[in-house]
Amino acid sequence: MKTAVYPGTFDPVTNGHMDIIERALKLFDRLYVVVGDNPQKAPTFTAKERIGMLKEALKKHNNRIEVENFDGLLLNYVKKKKSNVIIRGLRAITDFEFEFSRALLNRELSKDIETIFIMTKDDYAFLSSSIIKEIAMFHGPVKGFVPQIVEKKLKEKFRK
Ligand code: ADP
Repeated sequence: MKTAVYPGTFDPVTNGHMDIIERALKLFDRLYVVVGDNPQKAPTFTAKERIGMLKEALKKHNNRIEVENFDGLLLNYVKKKKSNVIIRGLRAITDFEFEFSRALLNRELSKDIETIFIMTKDDYAFLSSSIIKEIAMFHGPVKGFVPQIVEKKLKEKFRK
């Protein structure tokens, strides 16, 4: 059974993330979606809220996807799950530099683990969790950019 790990902050999950997940499911039998905290970003939603939204948005795949929280070294999590693949999404060339150095660092730390990059659908190339929060904060429309559950939670979070 081929398994992979897709880590991210998912604050909140967008249709860009969902697109990467759907594509990864075509390549792997089982996917671990891992919610972590990026020390450079102060999250808007708690890890519990982010996991809840992901679980709801991904429930039709719940026999092949597990959503979990993890705050340690990602490589240890990947090994614990007996996987050797990390999935990351690429939107544009601007993502590349950061992702490239992170993948090389991970390879340096663990030779057996490969990072696989999946390009998003071009419709979602401009999408990021931060842009979604910006729109929601000013009560703009996020329909079509995020799963329904996220739309609902954003409304609650940024209620007038
Ligand atoms: P992180 O803080 O780890 O970058 P994110 O939740 O912002 O977490 O992103 C997780 C992964 O999903 C990253 O690989 C990121 O490049 C990718 N990603 C985010 N938004 C999109 C999108 N619209 N299309 C494709 N990949 C995306």
